[in-house]
Amino acid sequence: MRLKILGCSGGVGGPLRSTCLQLDHDIIIDSGTGVGDLTLEEMAALRHIFLTHTHMDHISFLPLLIDSIFDRIKEPIIIHALPESIEALRKHIFNWIIWPDFSKLPSTDHPVIKFEPMRPGEKITLDGRTIEMIPVNHVVPGVGYRVEGPQGVFAFSGDTTSNDCFWQGLNARDRLDLLIVECAFTDDDLELSKKAYHYCPSLLTDDIAKLKHRPDVYITHAKPGQECVICEQVKTALQKLSIHVPVQCLTGGEIFTL
Ligand SMILES: [Zn+2]
Ligand SMILES: [Zn+2]
Repeated sequence: MRLKILGCSGGVGGPLRSTCLQLDHDIIIDSGTGVGDLTLEEMAALRHIFLTHTHMDHISFLPLLIDSIFDRIKEPIIIHALPESIEALRKHIFNWIIWPDFSKLPSTDHPVIKFEPMRPGEKITLDGRTIEMIPVNHVVPGVGYRVEGPQGVFAFSGDTTSNDCFWQGLNARDRLDLLIVECAFTDDDLELSKKAYHYCPSLLTDDIAKLKHRPDVYITHAKPGQECVICEQVKTALQKLSIHVPVQCLTGGEIFTL
């Protein structure tokens, strides 16, 4: 299983790209601006898109992606997401006003995209990779994913603040090698983190303490310019809790093989 980080920032500007994780050649998780770095051929090879939630930084390039490969694909791209997320996409994006309804184009019999509702706890196995949806706690309905391949397991939190459900979901399984978890703000923005339903280092590390696994931890979704401060605050807080895991901030472009 090859995981490439196409986008991992809480914003854009210069080299920064918003959330998109590419799994092998055929799957992406979220469709933020990072997907725009793929070639047309790479975009046309995508078969499945798993969404964590409908915020703009996670779906902004979904309409453009679909339009770009409209005439290149023979089978619809499957968009896996919560029923609430699908409803929101239909109502607010693919509504013929912001963008055409590509689930009915070029015809209802042979559309270019197909929405596939998925619920927390559900798993889908695609060519030996099992993708499980796990609930989180965000300001809109949101989920993370645990992905198990033949040789390793990673999990991605999506956007969330303090919760038990994501950590219980990971603890229910017996392996976790790599954890990609959001930490949008520094501890100076503790109150903002709570209001915006994101993590800051103190909230995140209190939750990592709930995890029975000791994976490599990669921070994502940092506010632009705050990456180093956030990473150092996470490391310091984990040390205080006597939790010894390697922690790094994702910068984009990383490739993991697992
Ligand atoms: Zn969000
Ligand atoms: Zn976000």
